[in-house]
Amino acid sequence: MYVFTPPAQASLAVAGTSDRFPVRRIFCVGRNYAAHAREMGKDPDREAPFFFTKPADAALDTPCTVPYPPLTEDLHYEIELVIAIGKGGSNVSENDVMEHVWGASVGVDLTRRDLQAEAKEAGRPWDWAKAFDKSAPIAPIVPISDVTSVEQGRIWLAVNGETRQDADLSDLIWSVREHVSILSQAMELAPGDIIMTGTPAGVGAVSPGDVITGGVDGIGTLEVKIGPK
Ligand code: MN
Repeated sequence: MYVFTPPAQASLAVAGTSDRFPVRRIFCVGRNYAAHAREMGKDPDREAPFFFTKPADAALDTPCTVPYPPLTEDLHYEIELVIAIGKGGSNVSENDVMEHVWGASVGVDLTRRDLQAEAKEAGRPWDWAKAFDKSAPIAPIVPISDVTSVEQGRIWLAVNGETRQDADLSDLIWSVREHVSILSQAMELAPGDIIMTGTPAGVGAVSPGDVITGGVDGIGTLEVKIGPK
């Protein structure tokens, strides 16, 4: 018996059905496109992939409106390929990774960039920069059997119709097979885990009233409005 009614299971829409994908955890890959690593002042050639997390209930369906979050004056968008895990496992080999993938989608890793810069400077965790409420708007999950490729395809984002990020999944430093395999060496993957696979170059700030659109060719598109402060 719970001492109060437990919160609803976090979940995301599934494309083409009213079924929901139950979200267990959200893992995010840092600096997984060379040009973005360079724009953040890092050398992309010498770094193993690293991960951070958001709470499951940071995920929300798109289209949506995200309220401009507190404590920041520098809210950034990051368009990302999203991988949805349907079968758990540890030490999954690169060759076996796709057997664990239920679907794919596109999402925005919303970031309080000023709080991230402060955390980096102070050697503190990134949670306040990355893991705030409604920080992971994600388009409906597409079953992997309906996805042509998670290894190539245009990934893009526009703000108020002006293109800001425009790259290709083939630009990923660590491919889906590689980084999911590496993640599974650190954590036992579980059904419902979501992986936001990193963003290409061109990140920037949005303001209340801005409309973000974005997509990954062959997988989906999204729209996110930024609400008032
Ligand atoms: Mn990101």
